[in-house]
Amino acid sequence: MYIDLTSGHIEKRDFSEYLRSWIGGRALATRLYWDMVAPEIRAHDAENVLMVLPGPLAGTSAIACSRWIMAAKSPYLYPEQFAFGNAGGFLGAAIKKAGIDGMIITGKAPKLSYLYVDNGTVTISNAAFLRGATTEQTMHSLRATHGANVSIVCIGPAGEACVRFATAATDRGGSLSNGMGSVMGSKNLKALVVKGSGSVAVADPAALQNLNKKIRHLRKGQNEVLYLSEPMLKGIERGRTTPCYACPAGCTRAYFTHISGSHQVLQMCASSHYYNAWDQRYYGEPSEHTFTAIKQCNDLGLCTGEMTNLIWFLDACYTQGLLTPDTTGLPLEKIGSIEFITTLTDIIANRKGFGDRLAEGTRRLSLAMGNDAASLALRRITQHGYAADSYGPRIFYTNALLYATEARNPIIQLHEYSFTVMKWIFWYTTSGMMSSLSTERLRNLAQRVWGSADAVDFTSFTGKALAAFHIQNRSHAKEALVACDRFYPLLDSDKTDDGIGDPALEAKLFSAVTGIPLEESDYLAFGERAVNLQRAVALREGKNGRIDDRLNTFHFTDPIEHEEGLIGVFNPDLEFPGPNGTIVCIKGRTFDEAAFERMKDEYYRLRGWDVATGLPYEQTLRVHGLDFVCKELAEKQKLVQQ
Ligand code: SF4
Repeated sequence: MYIDLTSGHIEKRDFSEYLRSWIGGRALATRLYWDMVAPEIRAHDAENVLMVLPGPLAGTSAIACSRWIMAAKSPYLYPEQFAFGNAGGFLGAAIKKAGIDGMIITGKAPKLSYLYVDNGTVTISNAAFLRGATTEQTMHSLRATHGANVSIVCIGPAGEACVRFATAATDRGGSLSNGMGSVMGSKNLKALVVKGSGSVAVADPAALQNLNKKIRHLRKGQNEVLYLSEPMLKGIERGRTTPCYACPAGCTRAYFTHISGSHQVLQMCASSHYYNAWDQRYYGEPSEHTFTAIKQCNDLGLCTGEMTNLIWFLDACYTQGLLTPDTTGLPLEKIGSIEFITTLTDIIANRKGFGDRLAEGTRRLSLAMGNDAASLALRRITQHGYAADSYGPRIFYTNALLYATEARNPIIQLHEYSFTVMKWIFWYTTSGMMSSLSTERLRNLAQRVWGSADAVDFTSFTGKALAAFHIQNRSHAKEALVACDRFYPLLDSDKTDDGIGDPALEAKLFSAVTGIPLEESDYLAFGERAVNLQRAVALREGKNGRIDDRLNTFHFTDPIEHEEGLIGVFNPDLEFPGPNGTIVCIKGRTFDEAAFERMKDEYYRLRGWDVATGLPYEQTLRVHGLDFVCKELAEKQKLVQQ
């Protein structure tokens, strides 16, 4: 469904020629982006194109396969470039049930508007009555108008004000990162409301049923591990679960209540705790204000991931005398208090005073403040603006390449490796009581899916580039489906003799639903094609290849003492598998920069890219069917002949 908000023109377009090659989700968005968003278009220009794309399995009973993405040129990343948010809830399924495979939205509405999709019929409606409304108020109001069974994605005041890291909120507490709410705001698009009453045809319902049965069996007992893997806050109780469409709830998605009874929030991941550390530091113990802080962000439409970066940066600038309460209008001496976070969220979402500068995000703010501030910020965030050290390279050498080569936070890729290792940590720290993923099983699994057992030897650089290559290919394929990374790939299981789950499940699900045969090797080859297209887009938008595939300096200079995320909570001594089944402590190590450069050499060779420049060989792109990018990349001198 193609919608031009400027003219109000709406039409169905046939992109079926793209679907066989690009499937859906992230990969299809990247392909459409190549055609529709020229490099000179800015994120907030009317010409930017906002894509809302589920995958081919959405709306079917395929477990945890009804997530969806929203993609566009991102105003959050630095510099602006292609990115996407990945959300759960019901909207992906609703779009498919409305008889639509995806939505392409361009232009800018003359006044604040919302789109209503009623089973394939789209109307653009006046949203003046929603101006300034929070996301919760907006959803409530639109459901009152269109019925309780519609699915919604909408923005709050931060999106309307084009805050660069504004989120778009969807049902069941889902949200879209990377500034997708900001792009909606720039288009005067307050919400998208979808009513889908149809059903999605499945080529082989019996096969799908059997696969779902198998998934439940292989995964039985693992949910508890995931629940326990979230750091629990004092005084918080878990209420009813709030799973996405066609999911038996494989994660922490649920309502949580503070014992004070004062707040109830949906909690999805660690970013839900974003204010917890400062709250504890200020009050001496965790308070219900942590909940209030989440709710404020959810209501206003602010990304808690970026809020974490900003508060860290403000705290560090205050300590170093780079910012004061007078220059910011913020009670910087009270970071951690409810007063501070209430003021901060309000001035950002409404771009009041210093909030107008904060609304640009940590990276741009720090650059505008000068060299000292910019260097300081790079202690926390990458050159592109997102957190630089979650499951970081000093511990996970493989992840170094994922960070260096992806512009957007590669969190889904980081999860494949790190969640698996987390299960080993549970095995190790509980003597096998909470997990069956022993060192031997982990090594077998690494051999099967990441190319070698060396991938999980935490002392060497051997096999890490190969692991990164496989992880990226598999992740890009998964993000085309769009399958949930809390479920897929289902790499390990204590229900099989060798402890390996079924890494081919996604390909089998695709075949069952579409009727198109797909082997695991085809699935991974598809992912590889998508990685190459992503590289082509990044190069066209200004990336220069090898010299831009870099990590922040601190990884090479500062010894790691603990990990801030889940790994640090459950493995504070940083003990990991070493060579030949041994266990090693890696506390205090830095990342050898020369070794990192050698890993890049190996990675480029695996990709079929030129080692000296990191630019793709023309032959590689043509082998992957990317002939359409070659001319433009050659003109920009971003292509190498072998
Ligand atoms: S595992 Fe959680 S996030 Fe993933 S589809 Fe299920 S409920 Fe949604």
